[in-house]
Amino acid sequence: MATKKTIAFKKDEYQAARGGHSRLLKITCEGCGGFLGVYQKDGPGHLRRMYIDRLHVSKIRQGASASCPKCERVIGTKIQYKKEDRSAIRLYVDSVVKETISAKDASKYL
Ligand SMILES: [Zn+2]
Repeated sequence: MATKKTIAFKKDEYQAARGGHSRLLKITCEGCGGFLGVYQKDGPGHLRRMYIDRLHVSKIRQGASASCPKCERVIGTKIQYKKEDRSAIRLYVDSVVKETISAKDASKYL
């Protein structure tokens, strides 16, 4: 029997530091349109890096760089964000497509 899981927003000091407002983004590959993951974006502003601890779902291939598992397009570089000591992917410009989705829709990808 399948159990229904839902995505719950992660609330911690990182989220609080960004104003306590978050949304979920469906991330797809700019190159092939392939699904890459569901990401929790905390606070306003552009998506420049994705913190690994905010990827609720991830199909991203991760090594020294991050790439699409389908077309192998490199979407960014793995970094350690020094200010908070958090692992992240620094995204290349126009490497991914972002779409805001509801927690209900995001949970379909679990
Ligand atoms: Zn791709």
